[in-house]
Amino acid sequence: MDHNANKSIKCTVEQCRNHCDSANYCALSEIHVGTHEPNPTETQCVDCNSFEVRH
Ligand code: SF4
Repeated sequence: MDHNANKSIKCTVEQCRNHCDSANYCALSEIHVGTHEPNPTETQCVDCNSFEVRH
C-alpha cells in the first residue's frame, strides 16, 4: 500500500488502513463516496465506502 498523501482528499479517519500515516489525507488516488440513507439530508448521511479498517 502506497501511503503518500493525496492532497485532493482530506481525511481524519486514522483508523482506516488507507489513511496517510503522517498527515490528515487519504492515500488512495480516488475514493468512492455513497449513502446508507434513502434520502440523505445531512453530512452524517454519507459515507466513504473506500474505508477499510486498519488491523
Ligand atoms: S478510504 Fe476514505 S476513510 Fe479511508 S483514509 Fe481514504 S478517505 Fe479516509
